This record gives sequence, C-alpha cells and structure tokens, in this order.
Amino acid sequence: MHAEAPPRVLIVEDETKVARALADGLGAERFETRVAASGEDGFFLVSNESFDLILLDLMLPQRGGLEILAALRARGLQTPVLILTAKDTVEDRVLGLDVGADDYLVKPFAFPELLARIRALLRRGRLDPASKLRHEDLELDPVSRAVERGSRALELTAKEFEILEYLLRHQGRVVSREMLARDVWKVTARATPLDNVIDVTIARLRRKVDDPFPRKLVHTIRGVGFVLGVEPR
Ligand code: CA
Repeated sequence: MHAEAPPRVLIVEDETKVARALADGLGAERFETRVAASGEDGFFLVSNESFDLILLDLMLPQRGGLEILAALRARGLQTPVLILTAKDTVEDRVLGLDVGADDYLVKPFAFPELLARIRALLRRGRLDPASKLRHEDLELDPVSRAVERGSRALELTAKEFEILEYLLRHQGRVVSREMLARDVWKVTARATPLDNVIDVTIARLRRKVDDPFPRKLVHTIRGVGFVLGVEPR
C-alpha cells in the first residue's frame, strides 16, 4: 500500500500571473505543483519527474501546447492532460481531444470549475492502478501481482516487481535513477550506494524479463537511466 501523497500537478503556462494564480490556488487545496513557462520546459519536467495531472496552456511561445501534447502521447505518456485554452472554437477543442487531451477548459474560467475537472480526472486516473499493465508480450497484474511474458510466469522479488510496474507505467519514457530512488525506494537524497543497489536490482530484473527472450524490453540509457519499450538511439 502506498501512502496517500498529495497529487502532483504540472502547470504549463507562459503567463506568469496566471501560472502563479493556478499554483497558489492548487497549493491551497493541498496539491503539489510545478510550473513550466514554456512547452520545452514542460516537456523536460515531464521527462524527468512524475505527475498525476498536467494543466496545459495551448498558446505557448515556440512550440504550442498541441504540439507538446502530441509529442508526449507519441512517447506513451498516460498522465491525464487538461487543456487550458483561450481558443473558444469547436475545432480547437476537438483537435485537442484528438491529440490526446482528457478534458479542456476555456479561459477565463472559474477556479472551482477547474478544481472539479481536476478532481474528476484524478478519480478516473485512480481507477487505473487496478488494471493490468502491458507492453508487447509482457503483462503485469498489479492486483494479483502476477507477471507473465509470453505464456511464461515470471517470479519477481518485491522490489523487482515494483520497478517493473514503474517502468510499465512510464513506458517509452526514460526513468532516471533519481525517479526510482524517490518513487520506488522512497529516498529523496540520492547516494552512490543506492545507485548501485538500483543497478543490481535492474540487472536481476532484466535476467528474468529479457534474458530468456530474443526481444529485449528493458534498455539502459548510459548516464541517465532506463527505458522500457523504446530502443535508445
Ligand atoms: Ca499562453
């Protein structure tokens, strides 16, 4: 069982005043927030940290919100995304949802409405932890804790299971040792000995998940971390 941590919300918004108002409002409701002032910053944060929800402004300098959203979804990101848009046209809303947004809100909006939408998306997200996680022929059942690849049952230790579940929930994204230390080992200050433990545990996991099969799923990104599913370039 995981302790109930405050939901983490990433706010991607270039207007400082709006971003601050959102962060303050959500902070008062016990959300943990991070602000990205550009699409690039948002993309970077999403790649390096985990969030329960993303608030995404569409009108951003350089790369717009829709482009960022499409890129994140193409990489397999499953985090709910709520679009904030001043573009009050049906086309933009439909396009946003097509690209992978879960909901949208047209500016200006009332804060209680934003809060209600966020809570609805988080509830929907919370149903997820029970459903099976899959990548190609690999399947993990978070409830029964059974793991199979092909028709073969894999016997994992508790930590190996937690890492594999984490990699599956972040599939297609690079998972850093820092993320594993924080979210799997629940340690905030990273130390070299823990990095070694992480590497050893990943190596053992890989022997079980990948060694007996020709197609490898868990890859190391040198100096950065690990990724499940996408071969590093
Ligand atoms: Ca904007």
